[in-house]
Formats: sequence, C-alpha cells, structure tokens
Amino acid sequence: MAHFDVVILGAGAAGLMCAIEAGKNGRSVVVLERNRHAAQKIRISGGGRCNFTNINTDKTKFISENKNFCISALKRYTPQDFIKLVDEYKIDYHEKTLGQYFCDDSAMQIIELLLDQCEQNGVEIVKQIEVKKIEKNDGIFTLITDAEEYSGDKLVLATGGPSIPKMGASSIGYIIAKQFGHSIIDIRPGLVPLTFSDDMKGYIAVLAGISIDNVEVSVADKKIKQKFREALLFTHRGLSGPAILQISSFWREGKAIVINMLPDVDMFEQLLKAKKDNPKQLLHNMLSKYFAKKLAVYITEETDIDGQMGGMSDKKLQKIADMVNRWHVMPNGSEGNRTAEVTLGGVNTKEISSQSFESQKTEGLYIIGELLDVTGYLGGYNFQWAWASGYAAGRAL
Ligand SMILES: Cc1cc2nc3c(=O)[nH]c(=O)nc-3n(C[C@H](O)[C@H](O)[C@H](O)COP(=O)(O)OP(=O)(O)OC[C@H]3O[C@@H](n4cnc5c(N)ncnc54)[C@H](O)[C@@H]3O)c2cc1C
Repeated sequence: MAHFDVVILGAGAAGLMCAIEAGKNGRSVVVLERNRHAAQKIRISGGGRCNFTNINTDKTKFISENKNFCISALKRYTPQDFIKLVDEYKIDYHEKTLGQYFCDDSAMQIIELLLDQCEQNGVEIVKQIEVKKIEKNDGIFTLITDAEEYSGDKLVLATGGPSIPKMGASSIGYIIAKQFGHSIIDIRPGLVPLTFSDDMKGYIAVLAGISIDNVEVSVADKKIKQKFREALLFTHRGLSGPAILQISSFWREGKAIVINMLPDVDMFEQLLKAKKDNPKQLLHNMLSKYFAKKLAVYITEETDIDGQMGGMSDKKLQKIADMVNRWHVMPNGSEGNRTAEVTLGGVNTKEISSQSFESQKTEGLYIIGELLDVTGYLGGYNFQWAWASGYAAGRAL
C-alpha cells in the first residue's frame, strides 16, 4: 500500500489546484483520477478556450443555501491571482465580455499549466483508477481501488458534479461525503438549455438557429428576483444561449420564463407611432425592423394578428407588445446532465470550514469545488470557485 500525507480524489480544476498548494507546503500528495486524462472539463470548457476566471467575482455571482460561505476563499485567491499565474506561463488571453477571461488559443494551455505546477511541486497523479471503498481507521484513510491501495493522513474530495457523464463525471463524491456524515443539499442540473413540450416545441423548432443578441429573461415568480441580459438562441429542442443558461439555474418546474426580446424598447409606444406614421404598413414588416423575418412572422402567427397597421385596435397592438416585451414561455424541463455545465446543490457547506474546507463531521476530510453547494453563474465563476476552494484547502493541508 502506498502512503501519502494527502490523497486527493479527482484531478479536475479544484483537485489539481489543491494538490499544487499542498505540494508547495511540503506535503506528499497523490491525486487519483478515473479518466485517462486529467481535467477533461477544462479541455471542453468555454468552447475549447476555457473561460478561466471573471474579474467581477464576488459572492453575488454564486448560488448556495449558505450565501456567505464562499467569501473567505474568494478573497484569499482572487481572479488576479490566477491571471498572474496565466501571465507567468505566457498564455495569451482576452476579456470577451462582462469580465469573462478566455484563452486566445486553447484550454489545453490551462491544463498544461496545472500539470506543470503539479510536477514542479512533486505531486503524483494516478489515472484510470476507480475507487471501490474508503475506510478510516486510527486517523488514516484507506482507499481500496481496482488497482493498488492508497492511504493518506488527509483525504480531499474533489470529484465535481455529475453533469456530462460521458466526460467521466460521477456522483461518487456525494456518496463518500454521506458515508462520512455529511448532508447533501438537493442536486439538479444548472446552466442548461431548456426544453418544451411537443406542441410548443413544434412552433419553437421553426425558429431553430435564430439568435437575439440582447434579451432580458426572468422567472415568472415574484420571489425569484434574478434577471439576466444576454443573448438567447432558439434550438430545435427549445431555448439556449447565455441568457437561458443563466436563468435555468433559477427556474423550477411549473414556472414560466419571461422573455423581454427588446429590453430597451417600449414596443407598445413604437407600434402606436408606426400605426400613425405609416398606416398601410403590414405588421410583420414593421416587426422585421427589429427581428429576423421568421421571428417577426412567428409573433404575428402566435398572436393571430397581422395586416395593415392603420386598422388595428390598441388592444391588438398591446397584445403584440406584450409578446415582445413580456413573452411567457413554459419549459417542460431541461436537457439535464447530458449538457448541463454545472450541478446546483451539493455537500452542505454548513458542515465545512470556510477557512480550511475541512469537514466538521470527519477530521482530516476536506471537500472542495463543485461538489459543494456553491454554484457560480455562467462566465468563469465556476473555475474561480474551483481555484479558490482548492487553494484554501491546499494551504491548510
Ligand atoms: C461543457 C462545459 C463547459 C464549461 N465551461 C466553463 C467555463 O468556461 N468557465 C467556468 O468557470 N466553468 C465552466 N464549466 C464548469 C466547470 O467545468 C466546473 O465547474 C469545474 O470543472 C468544477 O471543478 P471541480 O474540480 O470541482 O470538478 P471537475 O472539474 O468536474 O473535476 C472532477 C474530477 O473528478 C474526477 N472523478 C469523478 N469521479 C471520480 C471517481 N469516482 N474517481 C476518481 N476521479 C473521479 C473526474 O473525472 C474529474 O476529473 C463548464 C462545464 C462544462 C460541462
């Protein structure tokens, strides 16, 4: 049996960052990873360019039942700290939008950076290994695997969430956390496209491929205050694009999504003006000034109102304006773990130290990254959480 000061389960963003810091602290560290390659989610992140941080990171960009838990770690390892590391490796990057930092070239550069740092700090990474059972006896954790056995004075769980199972994602972290006394806040897919029932989908499918650059989306529920202004994409299954991914993390079954397709335009006012200035104009032609032709026609079909604007009642114009500025759509679900970027919920952070990330249930056990009930908005926040929680735990080991 190979013994280490620290055994880390999961060579993803959080696990590797934790390993680097623990290695710097002089600890002997092994990271066990079930995949053939480390950090597969980094590889596919940000469309292959990895949105590795967001300079607007603060607690308001995270969803958790314990809203202040993330503050301490985020303060101790900031976006600037990670950017400094990226600079040291001469990786070119750019701010795309809304504080989101992406590699110019490839997400692989971030993986290479982390693996190089691991090597420099003496971290051993064992791949293609499946943990079968974990025991803790006399203060030592023993991991029984499908290959060699490993033991450690400290055990770090960094196995992430179950989204994208084909990338090796699993729910094992929750099972082990429960074994060691932890409770789990309900998990569900987040940052995920929304789908529609067949009759609704039939209509939306007509619009597949159309995107709108700037919509405002919210949930039709007074208790849910979040609104997002970003792009929306119609797909053949339903709705996607950054605005929808963001609001999906707040949406609950049975609630409608409210879409303002022109948040900077009072459509009723514009319709009244158009009716007065150009009464012979057809409604769908007027709408085509704002939208792709297909979408303009779709609005008239959905409302069953078209024709010359001059003869239209204010009531009809209001109905059109409502669809443009307050369109209520009722998703029947989401694409689920198959395409979700994150998993909401996770290990209850009230049972974890926000300083060291050590479990308050089992001494020597640490839990970091997406496995915890801390989920970032879209835009680089989830990696910043992985870096920050991994750093804090690594320094404490
Ligand atoms: C398509 C996609 C794009 C994304 N893009 C971005 C982005 O651009 N910016 C951003 O901030 N976030 C992005 N995210 C989210 C981000 O990838 C995650 O939040 C982040 O990777 C979580 O880090 P983690 O270390 O906690 O978990 P992970 O990175 O998921 O790492 C967990 C590791 O544990 C391993 N593991 C799982 N089960 C076992 C087991 N039984 N035994 C051993 N090892 C195991 C996994 O193989 C994996 O290597 C994206 C996610 C997806 C799916």
